[in-house]
Amino acid sequence: MKILIVGAGLYGAVSARELAAAGHRVTVIDKRDHIAGNIYTEDVAGIQVHRFGAHIFHTADAAVWQYVKRFSDFNRFTNEVIANYKGELYNLPFNMNTFNRMWGVTTPAEAQAKIAAQRAVLAGKTPTNLEEQAISLVGTDIYEKLVRDYTAKQWGQAPRDLPAFIIRRLPVRFTFDNNYFNDPYQGIPIGGYTALVAKILALPNIEVRLKSDFFAQRQAYLADYDRVVFTGAIDQFCDYRFGALAYRSLRFETQTLACDNFQGNAVINYTDAATSFTRIIEHKFFDLANSRPGHTVITHEYPQDWTPGAEPYYPVNNPTTAALLARYQDFAAAAYPTVRFGGRLGAYRYYNMDQVIRAALDAVPQVTA
Ligand SMILES: Cc1cc2nc3c(=O)[nH]c(=O)nc-3n(C[C@H](O)[C@H](O)[C@H](O)COP(=O)(O)OP(=O)(O)OC[C@H]3O[C@@H](n4cnc5c(N)ncnc54)[C@H](O)[C@@H]3O)c2cc1C
Repeated sequence: MKILIVGAGLYGAVSARELAAAGHRVTVIDKRDHIAGNIYTEDVAGIQVHRFGAHIFHTADAAVWQYVKRFSDFNRFTNEVIANYKGELYNLPFNMNTFNRMWGVTTPAEAQAKIAAQRAVLAGKTPTNLEEQAISLVGTDIYEKLVRDYTAKQWGQAPRDLPAFIIRRLPVRFTFDNNYFNDPYQGIPIGGYTALVAKILALPNIEVRLKSDFFAQRQAYLADYDRVVFTGAIDQFCDYRFGALAYRSLRFETQTLACDNFQGNAVINYTDAATSFTRIIEHKFFDLANSRPGHTVITHEYPQDWTPGAEPYYPVNNPTTAALLARYQDFAAAAYPTVRFGGRLGAYRYYNMDQVIRAALDAVPQVTA
């Protein structure tokens, strides 16, 4: 078959690879001037810079881990995040180091007793919103210093107006383990994610065309190809006919500094309300062994409201958007039978990289069905 993949991000690249490997003729287009979508990394003075936010590969899916390792070596980076609350530094995710710094406790029993005492403000009530959920998990002090204002900045809403499920799986540990992720496999591709995606796309029957927006020639593309895999936004594909889905956007400010070490860690979250950015990324710490010394590159990450035309980074999943998404999916399936939607925007799901690879691999047989 002649197959068009719209989007050279991870979902598009894995779909293209598998379809080309199965013998189909594949064209990948992307409206940007680079491949790799949001996992794009760029060499800035010998440091791999994550242009669209910090990306740490982590997975419990052994087959996906083997899959990515076919295309790149990975280092053994472990994400150990620091929170800065008005100059006080805490380890994340919440663990014995956090509890010790917050309360001076030294044993799990003391930490659990402290949280239980603070949870009493809920008077045994089942949490109905994010604020109550956080207090029930970690108590009022940690909620007020490390969760409340950070969450409000991220989502543009007060935690008491957000659903509890967003942090239902918030990691809380009564050990001294600062590793942010629980997955058995974790690392950063040496040489960057762009090189990884380039290798995925390197088959003779894959053609990549950049600076090509699907909507500029939608009718021609639909007529010319047997199948289209669309990894852009499904509501945009359907001309927002039922109204836009909800998204959060981000703004990144990146600077090169003439110092060797700016903050001593890859990711530091700023959890107070007065600081308008949510985190600072210092890129060299993702792969220190392969970064050139003498200078460093940092990025401030600012959450933004989304309006049509802005980059939609995060889907906002709630009952209203779930109903709207179902309408779009029904409409698109009936009106565009040769088009398959996938990836973070096509499926309108918060996918990590490993989940996006898994979803793409699983969907390949349905593309040509
Ligand atoms: C700030 C941030 C941090 C993240 N951190 C992590 C992390 O640490 N670990 C992790 O596992 N995951 C992380 N993720 C998730 C990760 O970015 C995604 O899983 C992955 O990038 C999704 O790939 P995708 O191909 O679905 O989408 P994208 O990377 O968004 O690719 C879609 C592509 O389609 C193109 N496109 C859209 N519309 C059109 C059109 N009309 N015509 C042509 N091209 C079009 C876009 O330009 C884009 O290149 C993070 C995400 C964000 C936003």
